[in-house]
Amino acid sequence: MKQLWGAIFRLVAALTLAVLASAPALAKTPVQTCIAPLRGSAAAPLQFDCSSDQLRHGSGDFGVQLRFDPVVSTADDPLVLRTTSVWQGSERVVFRYADGTTAALSFTQQTARRYMTIGAIFEFPVPARTSPLVGAYIEIEDSANWRGVMLGAELMKRSESEEIQRWLIALYAGFGGLCLALLAYNLALWTVLRHRFQLTYSLMVAALMSYTFTSSSLAMKFLPWLENNDRMRLNYIFLTLAAIAGLRFIHEFFGPRVIGPALGKAIRIACWTGLLSALAFASLAPQMGWLLDRFSFFSCTAMLALVGPIVWAAWRAKVHYFWLFLLAWSPPLVASTLLVVHGLGWIGYSFWLDNSNLIAVSIESLLSTMLIVARLRELSAERDRARASEQSAMRLANSDPLTGLLNRRAFIHMAVGRSATHRLLLVDIDRFKAINDRLGHDAGDDVLRAVADVLQSCRPPESLAVRLGGEEFALLVPLQHQRECPPDRILEAVRAKAMPLDWKVTVSLGYVDGKVTTEEDWKRLYRLADAALYRAKADGRDRACRATDFAAVGVAWRASNPR
Ligand code: GH3
Ligand code: MG
Ligand code: MG
Repeated sequence: MKQLWGAIFRLVAALTLAVLASAPALAKTPVQTCIAPLRGSAAAPLQFDCSSDQLRHGSGDFGVQLRFDPVVSTADDPLVLRTTSVWQGSERVVFRYADGTTAALSFTQQTARRYMTIGAIFEFPVPARTSPLVGAYIEIEDSANWRGVMLGAELMKRSESEEIQRWLIALYAGFGGLCLALLAYNLALWTVLRHRFQLTYSLMVAALMSYTFTSSSLAMKFLPWLENNDRMRLNYIFLTLAAIAGLRFIHEFFGPRVIGPALGKAIRIACWTGLLSALAFASLAPQMGWLLDRFSFFSCTAMLALVGPIVWAAWRAKVHYFWLFLLAWSPPLVASTLLVVHGLGWIGYSFWLDNSNLIAVSIESLLSTMLIVARLRELSAERDRARASEQSAMRLANSDPLTGLLNRRAFIHMAVGRSATHRLLLVDIDRFKAINDRLGHDAGDDVLRAVADVLQSCRPPESLAVRLGGEEFALLVPLQHQRECPPDRILEAVRAKAMPLDWKVTVSLGYVDGKVTTEEDWKRLYRLADAALYRAKADGRDRACRATDFAAVGVAWRASNPR
């Protein structure tokens, strides 16, 4: 098992390295982004701010100047301008060429999908001209500016953009396929094993899949009525749902042995806060948007912060898949920590940051499957142990402590209801009282055990051996096996058995064939075998007697000759 895991880790690491090494190089033409709030009189010159701190200007309308070295947009491979989608109203883009000509395009919330490409990135084609492109000016209405006014502006050739898009499509398709497989696998497993954490894990995967669907902007391709800002509302909801399901999964996965009541309560509070903040943002934004956005990110931070105490609790409880757990959850934790830090405006935007959660969650999902397997193995071992101890308790409750044979209650419970015809053999030790009187009670017990041994070794398969009480035993043998255990052989085996102080011990035996389907059958069969036993005793002991027509006579005889 360890070797298999080692091989899988190496494979995942090699694949990750291969992906990172061959990923397309980005930002071919360095672009500087400068923004200016559009306030006051239109005549006043705009004050452009080229620093990376766009947040300090707050929300509103903006003019954005993109500065770069002149570059020609050729007809065979024209340029494209790519920017990351952020919360805003309409946008107008004007390209400026060295010969003084311009080209413009614009879109609103309703028409934004026209320029949206995979990965929620706007891509504006730069018309091909012989004169070089020297600048771009963009006017943005109603920018929320929670993360920035304009992020990730890149100027590149269309072929390069297509290459990036191919990569992203492969990434999303791979992730979608992985999610689907994990969902199918975990739900199928859940139908058999019914552990709650399997459902919660599936919910997390489903939420991540939905988040990928909306955050990659695939949603806009398939849902024509969806506006870009509404797509971002859905992002918040799905990402928060995934975080909540992830936290609940860890909680249920470890169970109360690891997660104490205080930590459990903290997890519940964090989950509810997260859900409320995401719902508030999704339904109210852009009203109070900045506040709700911060609130949402702080509640995500709270959820993340809880992972510290959970890891600590797991470490202290010495769960033996601790390192696998840590390994599986580190990539998404690092990625989401970075996203939260980015959301708070403490680190800038980057393409890898934007897509890091996808890669991290893929690694986590794969490793978590192994984690689930480890946990299921542990749970099934626990179940086996519980079953074994239940079985041994049952054996104790059903057996006679002196001889280890079944006791009377268990025997009747197991015997009554059998449909096949059986042979009931009643075995009673001859003059046992004398053994007790002469050799002592302990030796008497040894004799009882010795006779039980004989019965146990004579017993054919599917038969039952019981100590009915005192020195009386019985065998219930399916008739088809009765040849394997003839009464004479039992008599002979008892005679031959080594006894305390070489005491000669014999038994008498009464037997009868019949059904034990009902309690009444059993009573009747017992009465007949008992009558036959008394006949054997009366005829001189150390012999077997079969109950036949004499049974009635025997019962009558017994009544008039009480022992
Ligand atoms: P018979 O040949 O007619 O069957 O005579 P018997 O002496 O075997 O029968 P009886 O019913 O007179 O005596 C049975 C004795 O078994 C009486 C009782 O003290 C003894 N006994 C019952 N249970 C135990 C036990 O668990 N251990 C021992 N050592 N003796 C027991
Ligand atoms: Mg006896
Ligand atoms: Mg007796």
